[in-house]
Formats: sequence, structure tokens, C-alpha cells
Amino acid sequence: MIKSYWTVLFLIWAGYSFAQQRPASEKPNVVIILTDDQGYADVGFNGSKDIPTPGIDRIAKNGVVFRAGYVSYAVCGPSRAGLITGRYQDRFGFSRNPLLAPKDSTMGLPLAEETMGDLLQKAGYKTGVLGKWHLGAHPSLTPNKRGFDEFYGFLEGGHRYFPEEWNLEESQVQSQYDGYRTKLTRNDGPVEETEYLTDALSREALDFVKRNQSESFFLYLAYNAPHAPLQATEKYLSRFDHIEDPRRKTYVAMVSAVDDGVGALLDLLKELKLEENTLVFFLSDNGGPTKDNASDNRPLRGFKSDFFEGGVRVPFAVQWKGQIPEGQDFDHPVISLDIFATAAALANAEPKNELDGVNLIPFLTGENQNPPHQALYWRNFDRGRVAIRTADSKMILEKEIGQLFDIQSDLSESKNVISVDLLRKNSLSAKIYQWKMLLMDPVFLGLLEDREYSRLHPDRFTPEIKKND
Ligand code: CA
Repeated sequence: MIKSYWTVLFLIWAGYSFAQQRPASEKPNVVIILTDDQGYADVGFNGSKDIPTPGIDRIAKNGVVFRAGYVSYAVCGPSRAGLITGRYQDRFGFSRNPLLAPKDSTMGLPLAEETMGDLLQKAGYKTGVLGKWHLGAHPSLTPNKRGFDEFYGFLEGGHRYFPEEWNLEESQVQSQYDGYRTKLTRNDGPVEETEYLTDALSREALDFVKRNQSESFFLYLAYNAPHAPLQATEKYLSRFDHIEDPRRKTYVAMVSAVDDGVGALLDLLKELKLEENTLVFFLSDNGGPTKDNASDNRPLRGFKSDFFEGGVRVPFAVQWKGQIPEGQDFDHPVISLDIFATAAALANAEPKNELDGVNLIPFLTGENQNPPHQALYWRNFDRGRVAIRTADSKMILEKEIGQLFDIQSDLSESKNVISVDLLRKNSLSAKIYQWKMLLMDPVFLGLLEDREYSRLHPDRFTPEIKKND
């Protein structure tokens, strides 16, 4: 009797320790922290002077800063479509910022695409999205239908930050920008949130990790801060009374709110002993629109929506304690598309579609000394603009105008050498030509065609009338 009592105790203890100590190599958790419209210079690890970001900087300190970390497009929607599929979004026609069109099943990420949620859910992960979705508002395109067990946030491309301004149900939306005032959604239904939006998302992130700590999880934490409108609470504004420009002050306060959330999330991972079993990526979805939100991309040229570095090179870092050596600066170009490929490799999951990213881990551990990419590409279909980045070059072509920069020695893209280096221009043009063969034309009208779309779809926001048979 006594013997079996001890046996039972031992078995409970053994089971408990096993559950507590998943091997670090076994399907690690993946966390992506995405900010919205944050400038390249607006994190401590890229040298910010006026925004202390001790939380975000811990990721850099614990892991790697990508000095040449890119996203696949220079505005929100297409960049997110690339991130979540690991593929250049022009491969499937997601070339524009989608419109808010809840009745249109083609307005968003095509169903043939596999999301990182689909992939990791299939591999046994618990998957969650918090914050901004922006990949389709039709019922067939929402997060719960695209591989995510949990969703808390909003479907639109932007949102106001104070709960007292959220006075619309999704069914009451009558225009594109009404979408900024909707109540938040938990899975399929509206909820009454009372906290400042950024704080609410941080709270939910902690809750998600606590609830799923004993399984492999994938958390896509998509803050909409510091995207306009510029709105912050006194808690964060009061930290920056020394900043005179009220717009910059509010922007900085918004980043500081995100930073508190990131810090709290890292504290929790440490407390739960999950640091060595969790990759944490941090990046912005595109460069700062300096005029809209007082962001700062220096020393890069350009801003959100263009293909100068300021549009597509973003603050980008990753940590995986115990697996990726700490405190690294990584100078070779990498791209947001690499996150999917990395996650797929670690989860030992087979992606459905051909990926454009690569598994970064061998490059970050030093196992592979080569650059992860020979070339990165961008296309703005409507403007007839394409760009390419190779080890030493950056070229942007727009119709008849070409600009070529020695990017290693001319980070700020100040000296166009295209007319004196035709050989290089031709070689890069040939690469772009090859890449464009993979691409499709856009499959939906975008934000710039808001009026045109409404004219073509007069019932865009009219709720369906239920027929009584
Ligand atoms: Ca954005």
C-alpha cells in the first residue's frame, strides 16, 4: 500500500516535470510582435534618442538585430499578406491595401493561400491573432477561418484608440473610415472593451500565453500603434513632457505603450520558463509615414508607400534564448517573408505553397555563413514601380525613370549611379524581369479606389435582408 502510494506520487512528479520541461528543440513557440507605421529610427536598438524602448530593446539584446531587415511592401495590407503567407503577395494578386468590404469574398487574402496560422495549427499549435487583421472582412476571410483558434481585435486597416469612440457594430458600418470606430471583436462577436487599445492588446497577449503555456503556441500580436490617429493616454504622455512638438510627443507615447506591453510579455515568458522555447520576432509592417504620424526613418531616405529604404526597411529583431547567440548585429538583408519559412522548419511542417522566405536559424547560429538571399524584390503594380536589393545594390525603376544606389556605401540613397553603371543596371533589370514572371495582376480594387468600388457595389455596406420564405 505504502509502496504504491510512493509510486503514484513519483508518477505524478515525473509527469509534471515532463510537462514543465518540453525540450527546447521540440516545436518552439512563435511570437510575432508587429507594429504599424513605426519608423526605422524609432526604437532604442536603432539609435532612437527620444524614445526609450527598454522592452523592445531586450529582444535585440537577447538575440539579433537585423540592420537590413525588410518587409515585402511599403504599406500595411500587402506587407501583412506577405508576412502571413511567407510569399511575395504579388504572386497572388494582393497588390493593394484592401478596402473594407464585408460582403466581398474576393476582398482580402485569397483562400488558396495558406497562412502561418493554417500551417502551425495543422502542426498542433494553438494559434492566436491580436489586433489588426486587414486581410479581409468577409466571413470567409476572418482570422478564425484562416488558421487561428483565437482572434481579438478588428478586421479593418486602422482603428481609433479610445474605447469611448467605438460606437458601431460591424453591421452599422457605412463607410471605409467608419471601420475605425467599430467595437472590438472576440472571434465572431463584438465585445465591450474599456481599456486604451494598445493596453488591451498587451493584456490579451499575456492572457493568451498564460492559457496556452503548456502547449506549442503561435501568437501574432499585431498592434496598430503607432499608426494614425495619434492618440495616447496621460499615463504615457506624461513620460514625455520634455518633448515640445505635440504630434511627436503623442507618437512617442504610443510607442512607449507598445514597449510596456513587449516588456511585460518578455517578463512573462521568463517567469513561465518559456524563453528558451520561444522565438520572439519584433518588426514594423512598413516604414514611417513621417508627415502622418511624426515618425522618423533617419538616416534612411523616403517613407511609407515608397521603395526608398525608408519605406521598406524597418526595425526588426528576433530572440530565441539558448538557441540563437545573443547580442548580434546581422547585416545581410533579410525579409519578413523569412518568418514563415523559419516557423515551418522549426515546427517540422510542410508548407502548402512555394515560399519566398528562408529559414533564418542556420544563418543566425553561424552554421551557414552565406547571405540568406541573393536578391529581394518589390512591386507597386499601380505605379509601374519595381525595386531590387542585392548585397551591394538597390535599384528602383518607375516607368522610364531609374535610380541605382551603392547601398553599402550610400545608405541614404543620395547618389544615383544608374547612368554610369549600365552593366549593373542591366544585370539587375534581368533579375527583376525573371521575378515578375511569378506575379499576378491585382485581384481586388484597393484603398485608392474607394469611391470607384462603392459606385460598382452600391450595396457594399447594406446589411443583407433576410427573406421570409
Ligand atoms: Ca502600416
